[in-house]
Amino acid sequence: MAAGLEVQGLSWHAGEKAIISDVSFSVSPGETLAVVGPNGAGKSTLLRCLYRYLKPSAGSIRIDGEEIWSLAARDCARKIATVLQEQPADFGLTVRDIVALGRTPYRKGLSAIGAGDRAMMDTAIERMNLTGLTGRHLASLSGGEKQRVMIARALAQEPDVIILDEPTNHLDIRHQLELLTLMRGLGPTVIASLHDLNLASAFADRVLLLAGGQVLGTGTPAEVLSAERIHEAFKVQSFIDVEPATGAPRFTFQLPNEI
Ligand code: ADP
Ligand code: MG
Repeated sequence: MAAGLEVQGLSWHAGEKAIISDVSFSVSPGETLAVVGPNGAGKSTLLRCLYRYLKPSAGSIRIDGEEIWSLAARDCARKIATVLQEQPADFGLTVRDIVALGRTPYRKGLSAIGAGDRAMMDTAIERMNLTGLTGRHLASLSGGEKQRVMIARALAQEPDVIILDEPTNHLDIRHQLELLTLMRGLGPTVIASLHDLNLASAFADRVLLLAGGQVLGTGTPAEVLSAERIHEAFKVQSFIDVEPATGAPRFTFQLPNEI
């Protein structure tokens, strides 16, 4: 299933300092939203608020109309799954063990995995092309394979929203494209921070451009990613044309002349 997400006036402070301020946007069920912006813009902080790791200083986050902080932790875990940059320490777990962790919010106490859990795990494993790797240890996998395992774990959670913090980090271009292609049409609403504006433009329905903890724009890639806004956020000059296959804006960057 997929849920809509509505964020209103969201701020998070570290002590006195605002790390993100007055962030508002909404995502429709099943859409893919790319969060883009320079290093230190507040992307990870925003995502941490969205998956309820950080409690906002102000503002609201509603998932299908319900404020996430009013949900029981278990219900929240059934609605929101994460794929984070830090991967779990490898305690000799196999791919299948990791995907099984996604079923935790549905299990009663220490009950064994049931047929329903197994069916969800198998679906997630197939969706992420991991069928031949289920017995392998996480440590023995390539970066792209590990990332697919983390997404399979998230899918096994049957979430309404999946939040990913720079899922393409450390992947070569082939594996970046492969991952983003697999992520399209997953079912749940997808919110992912991405470094590469060309990838964000090609794969996301909507983008949220953050700089200095504030929203510079939100909308379709073509609406948000103007040369002016890109300059304001990243301090680079950009040339924009259209990617013929997708019709999405395509960018070439250079340092501004004043440097
Ligand atoms: P991004 O993911 O866009 O690179 P982050 O959300 O990680 O940005 O960080 C935004 C800014 O907030 C950075 O300057 C970072 O140092 C600062 N920051 C993040 N978390 C904390 C914290 N817990 N305490 C103090 N400063 C923080
Ligand atoms: Mg970050």
